[in-house]
Amino acid sequence: MEIEMEKMDPQLNYMSAPYSYQQPPLSMPPSPHTVRTIIMPTAFSKENQRMTCPRCNVDINTRVESVPNMKTHLIAFLLCVCGCCCCAPCPYFMDSCIIHKHYCPACSSYLGESIN
Ligand SMILES: [Zn+2]
Repeated sequence: MEIEMEKMDPQLNYMSAPYSYQQPPLSMPPSPHTVRTIIMPTAFSKENQRMTCPRCNVDINTRVESVPNMKTHLIAFLLCVCGCCCCAPCPYFMDSCIIHKHYCPACSSYLGESIN
């Protein structure tokens, strides 16, 4: 009896010690890496481009909509303030002041934008 107990004890200690130590950290972090890999930031140009829509998984050619950005409004406002009212609409025709928003033609979901 005594010999068996002595044999069992060190084995139990050996087994239980690393187990109780490893289990809490294993269950605690819900692997934050997997969340990041789902969102893939795609670099968009000002022209439509081929890609796979992340929402409907269809190989598409993006639909581009040109929208003036905040910088455009700011420049137009500043031109007005400076007395160049006739030049105020100019930023809206400048390519560098326009955001090109990309949409999926299949499900029309917003995919991203390019700022020049
Ligand atoms: Zn889509």
